Order: sequence, then C-alpha cells, then structure tokens
Amino acid sequence: TRESARAFLRRNTFVLFTVAAVALGVVLGFSLRPYKLSIREIKYFSFPGELLMRMLQMLVLPLIISSLVTGISALDSKASGKMGARAVVYYMVTTLIAVFIGIVIVVVIRPGKGNRDRPVSSSGNIEPVQAADAFLDLIRNMFPPNLVEACFKQYKTHYKKLISTKNVTVPVNMTDSNITITDLHANFSVVLQTIQETVEEMVPMGGSSNGVNALGLVVFSMCFGLVIGSMKQQGQALREFFDCLNNAIMRLVAIIIWYAPVGILFLIAGKIIEMKDLVQMGGQLGMYTMSVIVGLLIHGLFVLPLLYFLVTRKNPFVFISGLLQALITALGTSSSSATLPITFRCLEENNHVDKRVTRFVLPVGATINMDGTALYEAVAAIFIAQVNDMDLDFGQILTISITATAASIGAAGIPQAGLVTMVIVLTSVGLPTEDITLIIAVDWFLDRLRTTTNVLGDSIGAGIIEHLSRKELQTQDIEIGNSVIEE
Ligand code: ASP
Repeated sequence: TRESARAFLRRNTFVLFTVAAVALGVVLGFSLRPYKLSIREIKYFSFPGELLMRMLQMLVLPLIISSLVTGISALDSKASGKMGARAVVYYMVTTLIAVFIGIVIVVVIRPGKGNRDRPVSSSGNIEPVQAADAFLDLIRNMFPPNLVEACFKQYKTHYKKLISTKNVTVPVNMTDSNITITDLHANFSVVLQTIQETVEEMVPMGGSSNGVNALGLVVFSMCFGLVIGSMKQQGQALREFFDCLNNAIMRLVAIIIWYAPVGILFLIAGKIIEMKDLVQMGGQLGMYTMSVIVGLLIHGLFVLPLLYFLVTRKNPFVFISGLLQALITALGTSSSSATLPITFRCLEENNHVDKRVTRFVLPVGATINMDGTALYEAVAAIFIAQVNDMDLDFGQILTISITATAASIGAAGIPQAGLVTMVIVLTSVGLPTEDITLIIAVDWFLDRLRTTTNVLGDSIGAGIIEHLSRKELQTQDIEIGNSVIEE
C-alpha cells in the first residue's frame, strides 16, 4: 500500500498542490483582511497571481491557432464535418438546458420580489444597444478583415471601465436583510454613471479575449485547417509546422503548470482581501446570488455528468476528477480562455482524450460554449425584471432565453465579459440597462463560478464528442497507417 500511496502522490502532485493552494489562499486571505490593506498594497500582494494570468494568456493565441489548424487538418473533411456538427449540437443543447434551469429557478425562488417602493430609475439618454446590431457584430467578428489586427484588436477600454467599478464601496450594511435592492440602487450613482458611459460606446458581441478577436481567429484557423487537410502531400510542410508549434506550446504549458498553484494562491487570497463585506449578505441580492449558485450546481453536478454517463456509459465523476486542476484554475482566474492551456493538459494527460478531438473542440468551446454564462444571464435578466415589478409573458421569457444564449456565445472568455453582454438581454425585453448596477457587487464571485461551469461544459463536451466520433477516428487511424506503409 505504501507503494500505491506513493504512486498516487506522484500521479496527483499537481492536483494536490493546487487544492492546497486554494485552501492556503483562503486562509491567508481571511487572515490578512483585518489589516485593511490599501488598494496599492493589495495590488502588490496579488502580483504573483497577475503573473500567472499573463503567462496563461500569453499562450492562448498560438495555442488556439495551432491546435485548430492541426486538429482539423488531421481529419478528412467528412470526419471534421461530422465532429463539428456534433460539437454544435452539444453546445446548443447544453446551453439551452442551462438557460432553462436558470429560468425555472429564478421564477420559483423569485429573488427580486417585494420591492414596491422602487424609485423610477434614472435612465440617462442612452442609445440602447439593439440585439440585432449586436448579432451582426457577432458575425462581423467572425470575419476579421485583418488577421494581424485580430491578434491584438482591443475592446479593452470598454471592459476596463466596467471592471474598474468592482471596487466601488457599498455604503449600506448589506448584512441587514431589511435593506432592499432599491436602497442599494440609490447608492450606486457612481457606478451608474460609469455603466452609462460604457453602454454608450460598447461593442459587446463576439468581442475580444485578452485583446484577441478569438472568434475571428477560430473561424480562420478552422478554414485554414480544412484547406491544408485537403492538400494532401502539398500541405505536409504546414501541417508539420503547426503540429510542431502546438507541441512546443504544450511544453510551455507543462512548465507553467508548476507555477500555477503559486499564482492561484495569490489570486484567491488577493480577491478575498479585496472583497467588500458581502459574504453574509441578506435580502434580495443574497437570494439572487443563491439562485445563480443553485442553478450552476444543478447544471454542473447533475445535468452535465448525467449527459456524459448517458452517452458514454462511463463514470462521469472519474472524468471530472481528472479535470480538477482546470476547474480550480477557472475559479482562480475567472477566464475560460486563460484556463484553456490547463484544460488541454487535463483532458489529454489525465483523461486521455484523443488529441484530434481536443485540438478541434476545445478552442471553439472556450470561445463560444458558455453554459454557466447563459444560465447567469437568464437569471440576472429575470431578477432585474422582478425588481422592476415587471411581469414577463411567455414571449418575453422566450426572448430572454434566445438572447441569453446569444449573449453567452458573444461573451469573450475573459473576466466579467458576461456582465457586458447582459446589455443585449436586458434591451431585448425593454429592461433598463443601468440596472446592471444592482448585481455588479456580487458579479466577481458569480463570474468565478460560471467560468468553472463553462470550462466543465467544454471538457465534458470533448469527452462526449470523442465517444460519438470513435468510428471516424478509427477509420482515420487506419488511413494514416496505410499511408505510412505506402510511403
Ligand atoms: N468569465 C467568463 C469566462 O471566461 C465569461 C463571463 O463573464 O461569463 O468564461
């Protein structure tokens, strides 16, 4: 048994380190809170975490391109077509289930009810973002006119404005359950103004991730991979180039992964020191937070595992345990795109998912498949309707489900992108966009949980798609074997 214990330790070193880092981060964070560090001090303290974030983001661009090009060119066009179709069906079905769960929960719990004395909201003269415009933006972003620009095109200013409002002080005592959302709203005038400025100039859909137009690069790399794949011998040099690039990047990931626990420790501790006293919050905001959490738990711990089991007949929790490190990284970074390198590693090394599948579906999944975000968007929109005493009819709820799905596709895999694309969901049913201020105080926390759900959804998707595509993969294996023999 000592042998096996040692083997267990060796196999799970990273995971154990990562779990320990989370625990330590929480302890360290709470023990430093009483010292009331200044914003500058917190920034210095979180620096190791910031570094992890930057290292991971650094790899995302070459990783997306090289993995998609090699993943797709390794399959013939029929096989990649089938795999792509399965991926799209999986993404749509799971996202819609997530939205459905969110709607049922928020309608049943009604976190925003009982707010009769709500003042008229101070809507400035904002030009509302039309859902149709946002949708066109999404498609526009799929076809970047300039590929080089797509690698660094930034919508950052818009995000920055919104994200910088995180540090706004909440002047009322949120632990008092008699405080209504209305009171909070009244105190958020500063945030309100920021949001209005943001909304005015925002281009939210299909946006950037770390300054990268991920969607555009995904579309280009897929087409490029398809073409190279069809070029047979002629495409050989490019196939080898991208394959080599991909392997090299994954080696860098293997190095960074040693640093990950340190980074995660400081990311988590820093956030705990920084957060306002919202932990024991009561009232409507608390109920809203709980609704989102319950929804995410049902989706992540019940629906997705069940789906995995039904399709593959394998134990989903064994599969999920192999993903632990990616899930924790998602929790620490709030970014599914920054987590992507780790997700790759977990799926390929721990769960032995075929590389042709991970290379194909993971970059796409991290960019467009966001179950957690979709669920959150639906809950948040209906919560805001409840706060406004607005009864939604069936048509409006349907509109919310469609726009929440679109908003989750359009949200980039970066921290709090979902908060930005919320504007589309709200305007689609005529809800005041400035009411995003109501939920901004807890968004950093919910963002971490929904990002974890997003990464889980992408990973389980890879497992399911591999299982469904095993026939094509085998055929390809035989063909590759043949061509090797012929040579
Ligand atoms: N932070 C999320 C992600 O990266 C997106 C969101 O804000 O919902 O997956």
